[in-house]
Amino acid sequence: GSAVQMVLPNRPTQAELTTYFNSIRARVKGNIVFYGEPARVPVNINPPPKRIPDETAKRNVNPYAEPVRPQIQAPPPPEPKPDALPFQEVTTQVNQFLLDAGAAVRVNDAGREHGQIRAFSNSTYDVAKVVPTVVMRNEDFGRIVRLVQSGREVRLEFDIRNQVYPEGATAYNTVAEIVGTDKADEVIMMGGHLDSWHAATGATDNATGCAVMMEAARILLALGVKPRRTIRVALWSGEEQGLLGSRAYVEQHFGTAENPKPAWSKFGGYFNHDTGTGRIRAMTVFGPPEAATVLRNAVGPFSFMGIEGAIATRSRGLGGSDHTSFNAAGLPGIGTTLDPIEYGTHTWHTNLDTFERLIEADLQQGAIVIAAAVYQLAMRDELLPRFPPAQMPAAPPLRPN
Ligand SMILES: [Zn+2]
Repeated sequence: GSAVQMVLPNRPTQAELTTYFNSIRARVKGNIVFYGEPARVPVNINPPPKRIPDETAKRNVNPYAEPVRPQIQAPPPPEPKPDALPFQEVTTQVNQFLLDAGAAVRVNDAGREHGQIRAFSNSTYDVAKVVPTVVMRNEDFGRIVRLVQSGREVRLEFDIRNQVYPEGATAYNTVAEIVGTDKADEVIMMGGHLDSWHAATGATDNATGCAVMMEAARILLALGVKPRRTIRVALWSGEEQGLLGSRAYVEQHFGTAENPKPAWSKFGGYFNHDTGTGRIRAMTVFGPPEAATVLRNAVGPFSFMGIEGAIATRSRGLGGSDHTSFNAAGLPGIGTTLDPIEYGTHTWHTNLDTFERLIEADLQQGAIVIAAAVYQLAMRDELLPRFPPAQMPAAPPLRPN
């Protein structure tokens, strides 16, 4: 079909949207719809550092340091337009219009530099509600739109083979453990998530986390240590759809601070590794400041490898990664802060998230630090300090997925 550009009126009312649809309907039929204006991605003259500077990493885990708040200029709020349709309603109507008008394919701009593709899901999770959609490199999208805007016809051919797996509605967590000795009913956990996005293989999001945790367990087994508490590795699934695997696991096994199961009070901490391939520079534990002190001491001997310490958080908010499923339940979830390397700039959810982008030495550091910290928590006389019931922060209301 021919390339047709579709640019909606800004924050349209129903009347504006309907008028626009009617103006473009005949051109859409059987054609390839380029949706929106190409993003202008400026050349990044000063890319962010790939490693957290040592001073910053130290400051971030110093409970007495004034936190550094990044200076971000919020964009001015848009002019009020009371009859504008809600964003989600516009999306639904655009999907329906493209189906009804007979568009062959919808093309979205990846909007990123150097051919990076960041493809997310069809938000309807229903192939009957959208036309086949592809995400195109920003450079190609922009080039084609310029040709179309100059009045030239651009013909395109797509061969899209989609496969629907109706049995794929169930996701599975993968769990294994080293059974403890005199405190075997108390559990220390560590994990990453097995699921990933489809543009690549998910090497940094989150094969790295899974590999680090399996390697940490292998180190402990190879040393022949006999941990007092049970050490359990969980490789979650459904993380990208909303931490589904870890939330279900926590609910089934531990309950919440407000509605605990017996295992809730015997839980000693969950370590998570999920922001790429960098070294672990810090840990953040849900709990009182004493919990961070325990972790700081546990990883202290490894500061020469770049781990600067730990800090406590009182937040039970869900989001980010699977440790927050534990935090939300009032359990000590432990997030790790990694050197960013190329995570936000190149690999996160992109077509470049493959094995080639991994730094083996950094991941070995992660496995060593986790193995040491997990071992300490599994051996000490007391569980990690927790908030007493009267001081447990309230859980924020659950947001819908
Ligand atoms: Zn992830």
